[in-house]
Amino acid sequence: LRPISVCAHYSRRWLVLINPAGGPGKAVKLFQERVLPIFSEAEINFDTVISERAGHVGEIVRSLNLDRYSAVILVSGDGLIYEAINGLMERADWRRAIKTPLGLIPAGSGNALAASIHQACGEPFSHDFVKHAALLLTRCIPQPLDLLYVQSLTSQRYAFLSFGWGIIADIDIESEKFRKLGENRFTVGALQRVLDLRSYGGKLSYLPADESNAWLAAPEVDIAASGDYVNVPSRPATNLLVPLCCPLPDSWISVEGQFISVYVTLTSRIAASSVAVPWAQLNDGLGYLCWVKGGLPKTAVTSFLLNLSTGDHLKSPYVQMVAIRAFRLEPRDKDGIMTIDGERIQYGPVQGQMLPSMARVLTR
Ligand code: ADP
Ligand code: MG
Repeated sequence: LRPISVCAHYSRRWLVLINPAGGPGKAVKLFQERVLPIFSEAEINFDTVISERAGHVGEIVRSLNLDRYSAVILVSGDGLIYEAINGLMERADWRRAIKTPLGLIPAGSGNALAASIHQACGEPFSHDFVKHAALLLTRCIPQPLDLLYVQSLTSQRYAFLSFGWGIIADIDIESEKFRKLGENRFTVGALQRVLDLRSYGGKLSYLPADESNAWLAAPEVDIAASGDYVNVPSRPATNLLVPLCCPLPDSWISVEGQFISVYVTLTSRIAASSVAVPWAQLNDGLGYLCWVKGGLPKTAVTSFLLNLSTGDHLKSPYVQMVAIRAFRLEPRDKDGIMTIDGERIQYGPVQGQMLPSMARVLTR
């Protein structure tokens, strides 16, 4: 790829938001040295803001003037993207706001969405990831991105990557103290967790994708294209869910017992070096629910984690995977770790529904 000038349609300014605390903490330098020259050559106009604290980017996008910026670029890991998406969804004009194209420069320890986008575009990301990401942005082609609405007893959030419970969620959160190690923090966290293996009791329920084709036949109207922002409801419709306190419809399937891992993913990768579901697309409208029941040998848990680097974990007889539209998880214990996009949420019963093509990202 060579940098090209942005097309006239996207010639307004970009807002570049940089997380100085992401990954090894080099995002500002990385932007100045590796990204800025490419943006300059492509004659992109932009303003930059350095995130001052956790939550700052959420505040910025909640009050962002959508007429001023044609895209929001995040120089960060997945955490800042999560803040941005949820900030956009909290706006009164969320239907329009969430269609703001998001561009990604990988500068965190996770970078799963950036890696998934590069994989979808057939662009390299193991070598010169930042340079390729910057070049890719200059093509400025917005593509739909699925979100997952996740509801607990106390909160409502929007995921673009994953919901996690069990060993992967524990590794993600417990390894945050090793952030300086970059992506290696996950290896250290995994070692700790396997040596002291836990299992987690609960009931997992899901609505398989093939049980909800009628729903699929009625896709989300592209409001951004139609320009019809009148009478916007306060939240997207989640017609597959019933209140968390109510029993689920018969079309749902449940699995009960001890689990080692429960993970719902939207994208092909859950880290630049970890494959969740090799064939997952950015906007296939599907969540991929993957679970491992308890009672398996530690060696099988170790190969499950190691095989995440290739996607071969799905070949293990201990691993179940199903494409879903919605899920519910009712943990038995009072305390533990649950994550949305790698960020910790309050523990307790949760459920979620796919929102196909809700957001947009810049691709090639
Ligand atoms: P990583 O991939 O290393 O987790 P992220 O870019 O995902 O890096 O960011 C991690 C967290 O940093 C996010 O949850 C975000 O809210 C937080 N954050 C943003 N700005 C700051 C800051 N100035 N200081 C500390 N934390 C911040
Ligand atoms: Mg998908």
